[in-house]
Amino acid sequence: MFNNLLDSLNLSYVYAVIIVLAIGVVLGILLALANKYLKVEEDPHKEDILNMLPGANCGACGFPGCSGLAEAMAKKECSKAEACKVIRGEAKDKLQSYLDEM
Ligand code: SF4
Repeated sequence: MFNNLLDSLNLSYVYAVIIVLAIGVVLGILLALANKYLKVEEDPHKEDILNMLPGANCGACGFPGCSGLAEAMAKKECSKAEACKVIRGEAKDKLQSYLDEM
């Protein structure tokens, strides 16, 4: 009975499905390994600073966007909240306090 079923199926379809599944499994394993071993570690300060910046991405600070200034601040290349020309008031004070404590 099983042979009859196999005979009725076109085996090339079965092989194609098996090959596609095998390729999917291999690529999934490669992606998991790449994620584990090739991961780029980012400074966690950058994310914190980026969340405190206004997010206008205007470029007035001389960087291509808020992310650029956040990276410079995380690397301590820039330690003044006033480098951002948009941030004001309490947000500016909060950012400056964070930069001073780093
Ligand atoms: S000036 Fe401020 S808001 Fe504008 S890009 Fe720079 S960090 Fe972002």
